[in-house]
Amino acid sequence: MNNEWFEKDFYKILGVSKDASASDIKKAYRKLARDHHPDAKPGDKAAEEKFKEISEAYAVLSHADKRKEYDEQRAMFSSGGGFGGFGRQGSGGGFGYPGGTTTTGGFDFSDLLGGMFGGGSRTRSAPARRGADVESEATLSFDDAISGVTVPLRTTSDEPCPTCHGTGAKAGTVPRVCPNCEGSGMQTSASGGLFAMTEPCDVCRGRGLVVDDPCGTCHGSGRATSSRTMQVRIPAGVKDGQRIRLKGKGAKGENGGPSGDLLVTVHVQPHRVFGRKGDNLTITVPVAFDEAALGAEIAVPTLNGAPVRIKVPAGTPNGRTFRARGKGAPRKDGTKADLLVTVEVQVPSALTEDARAAVESFRTARDGDDPRATLFSGGA
Ligand code: ZN
Ligand code: ZN
Repeated sequence: MNNEWFEKDFYKILGVSKDASASDIKKAYRKLARDHHPDAKPGDKAAEEKFKEISEAYAVLSHADKRKEYDEQRAMFSSGGGFGGFGRQGSGGGFGYPGGTTTTGGFDFSDLLGGMFGGGSRTRSAPARRGADVESEATLSFDDAISGVTVPLRTTSDEPCPTCHGTGAKAGTVPRVCPNCEGSGMQTSASGGLFAMTEPCDVCRGRGLVVDDPCGTCHGSGRATSSRTMQVRIPAGVKDGQRIRLKGKGAKGENGGPSGDLLVTVHVQPHRVFGRKGDNLTITVPVAFDEAALGAEIAVPTLNGAPVRIKVPAGTPNGRTFRARGKGAPRKDGTKADLLVTVEVQVPSALTEDARAAVESFRTARDGDDPRATLFSGGA
């Protein structure tokens, strides 16, 4: 949407309140369109202008998205000063507006330009506006995700061009009101029919203004991409895919409004040894057959500390999990979660002569005890 629409009070044009429902707006529009339709009053210039105005207002207020944007623009610019500091042109008399052309009812271009460029009586009292939230991503090592880390993050955001303050015009020049749409940014198609169509102006592409001498920095667009790198503290214990909100680290607010937030989506690289299960860390630890059968005390590595010793009781089955308290990731409340240690009983792939003899004597000692007996025990 072109930024200039904000100068018109579409609600007033349609005679509805700011919080009017979509159906109220539709009703008001239908009635006004009927009363002022050019087909009903052929040759009535004033009615034709009024009809254009009504169509334009309805084109914006009938679309929820456009209406929202319009309301925001109004709130932001309603008292002028949006481009405060640009030019010192008084009330805008010298802007090349083609004088003598019929203006649409109630719409004063000098007022528009006065407001836009900081002239006239309406200056610098624009309401404060919160900056936008900015999205970013960070990829962390497993260790950094557990212990927290400060990372440099590059963010980009779209802002008014700093050279021309968003007007798109070269320093010392100003944009001129579009002669095609007379600054409304909209044109009414001449296709005839009962209802004329209102669409964005071809000449200014809906901006309402044309730039003769484009700003060298933004080539007339009035927009600039600013990118900055900042140091961002990622708290300890973040998980892969988690989105963290850093208050006040987003786009700067306008007119003294607060900054938006920075939303960082975190990607965590897998670890060679450790895994995550919620706040708990996991590790799979191989144990020898005899350790599982006879019991053992084994050393298990922790992520950032000394190994812990875990007692594996005699007769521990493969896949049993033990818990080492306080050896996991930090929780939000500052305590630490646990390390879950899962044992994996190893079967030797090759045996020394002594080991083979030992295993064979174990087989003899087992004395025909069939580990699969229960599978064949019959019953239901
Ligand atoms: Zn235009
Ligand atoms: Zn520029």
